[in-house]
Amino acid sequence: MILFERNMLRASHLPFFVPFSLSHHSTHDQTSSYTPFFYPSKFLSRRFGREANNTSSAKLSSQWNNQRVQFVHGKLLSELSTWRIGGPAKYFTEFSNQTQLVAAISCRYCVDHSIRFFIVGKGSNCLFDDRGFDGCVMLNRIQFLERIHGGIYRVGSGYPLNKLGMQCSAEGFAGFEFACGIPGTIGGAVFMNAGAHGQEISDVIESVEIITINGEHRLIGRNDLLFYYRQSSFQKMQDLAAIVAVTFHLTPSSTSKTKAEEYLSRRKSSQPLSERSAGSVFRNPMGSAMTAGELIDKAGLKGYSIGGAKVSDMHANFFINLENSTSRDMVLLIKFVQEQVKLKFGIELEEEVCMVPYG
Ligand SMILES: Cc1cc2nc3c(=O)[nH]c(=O)nc-3n(C[C@H](O)[C@H](O)[C@H](O)COP(=O)(O)OP(=O)(O)OC[C@H]3O[C@@H](n4cnc5c(N)ncnc54)[C@H](O)[C@@H]3O)c2cc1C
Repeated sequence: MILFERNMLRASHLPFFVPFSLSHHSTHDQTSSYTPFFYPSKFLSRRFGREANNTSSAKLSSQWNNQRVQFVHGKLLSELSTWRIGGPAKYFTEFSNQTQLVAAISCRYCVDHSIRFFIVGKGSNCLFDDRGFDGCVMLNRIQFLERIHGGIYRVGSGYPLNKLGMQCSAEGFAGFEFACGIPGTIGGAVFMNAGAHGQEISDVIESVEIITINGEHRLIGRNDLLFYYRQSSFQKMQDLAAIVAVTFHLTPSSTSKTKAEEYLSRRKSSQPLSERSAGSVFRNPMGSAMTAGELIDKAGLKGYSIGGAKVSDMHANFFINLENSTSRDMVLLIKFVQEQVKLKFGIELEEEVCMVPYG
């Protein structure tokens, strides 16, 4: 991840940021008023060494440590994101265990061709570029669940967050009720420190297992990790390739099932769950009495749309892909809402969603 950032810095001399690319086939003529956004590259992808410029002519599979890795050209990223936005990935592969992941990142193919890569879980917090991704997108399908003993669960990072929330709560353990209804994976949730209803995933983590960019397995205890509101140590970890498993420690509870059901029904009545969204677009601003959603609502922007992107009528911090929204529509809407809220309340809203640039 940071190798990518360092290389970008050296190449572009941009301090800490890389541009988010825009569609060249957008149907909207707002180009003149558009100023590109800049996002921290450390959030986005990892890269090996210097980038080679001859990757497209390379073969699409490789062997590493007896594991054959298949790469696919042109997988549409809209299929991997709950927003259903995004063009083709130059390379795409999937992994369902640690060995396959290590093979994918360590094989001669990736190393020789210096392909940067991006790990995707459910894609429920990502905005992919209309042009796609000029590297390799790796879909995490590590989905095991081990019940170690009462309240201790070891879970593959590709396991569905919502499912684990429902299971733990039904089995009489508290701490994961918030997860009911969130359509992410465990890995994405830990990376983002997902939370709701006053709970955060970091509250119940005992340890996290990762694979480094050198292909090594590492076990990290909770005390060696820092978590804040929607932030985790993993977002800044120099040598992280991917989170592969997480062990949770939950406490026995007689009310966990009822609480989980209550949280889920609250979510269903307040969020547009059947629409194509990425959950909350902005973090709730620190020191403000109002949430991001309340600020957007009070600014009169519920229902506002640009192109196919629209501020939800139901929850103002959810932006939906109403009708073939491009990433460009969504970025323009995000920027417009930020400007309006700043103008009306003097508050700068900060994105919670991860913008994944093309290159
Ligand atoms: C309807 C809806 C409701 C939502 N409600 C909430 C909510 O209440 N609270 C909340 O916090 N979020 C919420 N979200 C946002 C989102 O679901 C969470 O942030 C989720 O945990 C992200 O998981 P993911 O697997 O989809 O991550 P992705 O979107 O796939 O990835 C997000 C980031 O994590 C990284 N990542 C993913 N997996 C790994 C891994 N294994 N190792 C290393 N990095 C990884 C990615 O590279 C990317 O930078 C909601 C989203 C939707 C669509």
